[in-house]
Amino acid sequence: MKRLTILVAVVAAGVHSIAASAYQQPAQGLPPAARAATQIEKVKDNLYMITGADPTDRNSFSGGNTGVFITNNGVVVVDTKLAGWGQVILDKIKTVTNKPVTTIINTHTHGDHTGSNEAFGGTIEIIAQENTKANMEKMDAFKGDKARFLPKKTFKDKMSIGSGKDRIDLYYFGRGHTNGDAWVVYTALRVMQTGDMFAWKDAPTLDRNNGGSGLEYAQTVGKVLATVKDVDTLIVGHSPLRKPAELQEYQRFMTDFVNAVRAANKAGKSVDEATASINLSAKYPGYKNERYKAAIQVIYDELKAASPN
Ligand SMILES: [Zn+2]
Repeated sequence: MKRLTILVAVVAAGVHSIAASAYQQPAQGLPPAARAATQIEKVKDNLYMITGADPTDRNSFSGGNTGVFITNNGVVVVDTKLAGWGQVILDKIKTVTNKPVTTIINTHTHGDHTGSNEAFGGTIEIIAQENTKANMEKMDAFKGDKARFLPKKTFKDKMSIGSGKDRIDLYYFGRGHTNGDAWVVYTALRVMQTGDMFAWKDAPTLDRNNGGSGLEYAQTVGKVLATVKDVDTLIVGHSPLRKPAELQEYQRFMTDFVNAVRAANKAGKSVDEATASINLSAKYPGYKNERYKAAIQVIYDELKAASPN
């Protein structure tokens, strides 16, 4: 029994370190397919999105979607993709404005959302939720000299920056993808950027090493839906623009998914058996099940931690 426990622990540690290196891997050179996938698209008026493609294909991936908000005083960049992509982001911004980048907001700690913070100079204002700052401080990418690219301005539950048409409301509603996911609302434009709390239509990545939780996920999204009502467009983590109704659907999906995982766990199924038996694609058209297993593993770990033995 002890041997098995150790084996499971080693396998679980392996899964976590693979996940961590995937987030933190800098772009080595810039693959042509990834460059092609990194385009600037108009969302509304003075708000743009720089795409980053699907992270399942590393060769065409530059990082999470980046928000580019042109205010009176300068440009606010929300998420900075993988390391090495800063100049591409700056070049794309130059095609829509001559204003300087003054502010970075990091929605969460992962290297595909914080990787190019350093490309914008050390005097820029960098903002994140306070748990995300603590998570970023643990990353090699922000040690030593690079610590100056950590967020200096943080918030706990809510903060507004700018005013009038330039106002951005930042919220934290609880654990999910990590324990520090910011929701960024461009109030005048009725657009919300979700980071990886809504990355794609599949099970989310649950980064338990950075405080993520599958068990609390749907409740966190429920708070967002109950609080932020005046939006009509979503910039999400790693897929095209979405509508608020699709975030409502995602909350229902996560409720059903976690209930199914709890039931499988209670029935004594292994993670593999649970993965093979759960399929919500019929109920949620357009959803994939490629990321079930990793999420189920984390939820099993959470359930075990909640009631050992
Ligand atoms: Zn992430």
